Amino acid sequence: MSNNLNHEVYDAHCHLSDEICNPTTKIVISPAHRAVAATSSHDWSKLVTYRQINPKAKIGFGIHPWNIERDLPVGKLEAQLRAQIEQQQPDFIGETGLDVLKGNLNLQLEYLKIHLRIAQDFNLPIILHCVRAHNQLLELLGKFPKLRGMIHAYNANSETAMQYRRKNMQLGIGSIILTSNSQLAKSSAHLPLEQLLIESDAPYMPMTGKQTSNSTDCLTYALELAMLQQKNPSEVIARVNQNWLNLFS
Ligand SMILES: [Zn+2]
Repeated sequence: MSNNLNHEVYDAHCHLSDEICNPTTKIVISPAHRAVAATSSHDWSKLVTYRQINPKAKIGFGIHPWNIERDLPVGKLEAQLRAQIEQQQPDFIGETGLDVLKGNLNLQLEYLKIHLRIAQDFNLPIILHCVRAHNQLLELLGKFPKLRGMIHAYNANSETAMQYRRKNMQLGIGSIILTSNSQLAKSSAHLPLEQLLIESDAPYMPMTGKQTSNSTDCLTYALELAMLQQKNPSEVIARVNQNWLNLFS
């Protein structure tokens, strides 16, 4: 495997950042192959502007579970999100989800249910953040059988992955795969490639030694996945890119 491999690995999950909005380096990842998610309702109009500049960009509307307490009140979310989707036609819903380690889980559940209902109604994929709440999330997904989407920054075992697969959920593989004692690294060999996507979560989840992540890091994660699965890197990249197209196109 040579180091000069110049494959583009499509980024299934990132956010607005200087690197994306004002790129100073040579762009390796096309905006057409990046799924850029909102973290708050303030991002929605910024994402629309970003897509005006990059017409093939994929953008998502949602409110991250860490931000719900200082964003739209839960009673206003549904009407505002529906209106914005009708007007602006985002490509997916997210980021939303559950995080036991941060904030109020009951409130997160209220916000999440609205996102799930809207994603199913508009037939849009949904990008989910889930930290130590897989059982609650899986139970809730059971109520939305037509939904499809991705669990971003997946870090659990292959049995949980199988449960998500039955709920039409892909798994986002990011910098956690480089941590050798992580659940993800340990289970990677057993995860079906058809269920996997690569993501940077730029700029928030850098690999050790970096300040921020960016979409070009996806190549490093794809190569690590190929190594752990003992597969040909080109084959792995072709497959995760096809999975990306299947989800977002
Ligand atoms: Zn994110």
